[in-house]
Amino acid sequence: HTDWTLNETAARRDNFYAASQSKFIPFKDPMVFKKGSMQYLWDVEGRKYTDLLGMNVCISVGHSHPKVVAAAMAQAQELTHCTTMFYHPVPAHFAEELAATMPNPDGDIEWVVHFTNSGSEAIDLAMTMARSYTGNLDLLALRTAYHGPTAAAQSITGISGWRHPGMPGNVAFVAEPNQYRGIFGAGVDPYLDEIERTINTATTGQIAGMFIESVQGYGGIIEMPHGYMSGAAERVRAAGGLLIADEVQAGFGRTGDHMWGFERDGVIPDIVVMAKGIGNGFPLGAVVARKHIAAPMAEKFMFHTYGANPTSCAAGRAVLQVIREDKIQENARTVGAALLERLRALKHKHEAIGDVRGRGLMLAIEMVKDRKTKEPDPQTTAAVFEACRDSGLILSKSGAFQSCLRMVPPMCLSLQDVDQVHDGLDRAFSSL
Ligand code: PMP
Repeated sequence: HTDWTLNETAARRDNFYAASQSKFIPFKDPMVFKKGSMQYLWDVEGRKYTDLLGMNVCISVGHSHPKVVAAAMAQAQELTHCTTMFYHPVPAHFAEELAATMPNPDGDIEWVVHFTNSGSEAIDLAMTMARSYTGNLDLLALRTAYHGPTAAAQSITGISGWRHPGMPGNVAFVAEPNQYRGIFGAGVDPYLDEIERTINTATTGQIAGMFIESVQGYGGIIEMPHGYMSGAAERVRAAGGLLIADEVQAGFGRTGDHMWGFERDGVIPDIVVMAKGIGNGFPLGAVVARKHIAAPMAEKFMFHTYGANPTSCAAGRAVLQVIREDKIQENARTVGAALLERLRALKHKHEAIGDVRGRGLMLAIEMVKDRKTKEPDPQTTAAVFEACRDSGLILSKSGAFQSCLRMVPPMCLSLQDVDQVHDGLDRAFSSL
């Protein structure tokens, strides 16, 4: 028997979830969700919501997408799990298919895949891989980065609100090239100089690599400007390090222009980390790396119990198929562009909006107390966030100051939804 009522669920959480898991509730009044279909969710009382959060970017092609569910169910019924000690064709096929999504302009890059269960596990592995390959310890990351909750992933997470005591070291943070409020203003070169300066002053001078999200998610949808990732790659490689792209939020066509967010800059990373949208809700992550970079790790054991789980990998294969068949990337581009335009219109109307930004279906509006000083306004952000929920819109608060509303919906969002999102936000701002 499952008791679905809100009060009982809340009581059970309060009593039996550890504080570390139970307290991350951004809404004043939490919801119990019962059902999802494509870009929509229904709570236990039957109320419908448009999901602009995609269960935190996990839902890439739509809640409970029938093709993804069918693929996973068929696999689970036949053989739910098969450890990598044995062979199974489903993850092997999926590895081949994922490798084929990577850029390979001259056809000479051999991409290989290591499947994990989550993004942070993949981040952890990428850290180890970079350190094993280069023989260097020091890593660079961006100040407003989020890379996950494991100790290693926290150690490269710049946003202090996500870092707990006692994290491992050998990480230096550099200023994010935030074109709206970055410490060096708009532009790219000062931020690249900062990378060089940090390597020279805060590391041994030889580094293992640098982690970059092509579009920062929790950072508040901060896009790496043109030339930043390629410029970073040059400087990092000159210091013996690797460029590691965290595509956990920006990958799988979400930016609309490309399958991978970093592709916009024409840069090819050495290691790519992916998760969330890869399984459309099934737990799955992956490190995709150049073959020679992954090779030194063969010297010791590295075994993720559920890595390459065939049920999740069957879901992952279906996700890639649906991205192609349903023209998901194209939809992210066109619907994202339409939504961005409507958000810009809202900025003209509502003084509280300081910035509107993003690409594809990875968008944000940032609230400020004053457009000139750009002082962040987390209070208005929280109020709009709650009011949107009353209009049936699920968004998320993000950014180092919790002053951004982040929109990362399932990528099947439609133009009709865009109207509803605009009207809901408009009502929310007008009600303040
Ligand atoms: N990297 C990024 C950019 C993320 O947003 C997240 C999760 N929010 C992670 C890594 C960690 O992934 P997971 O929660 O699956 O461990």
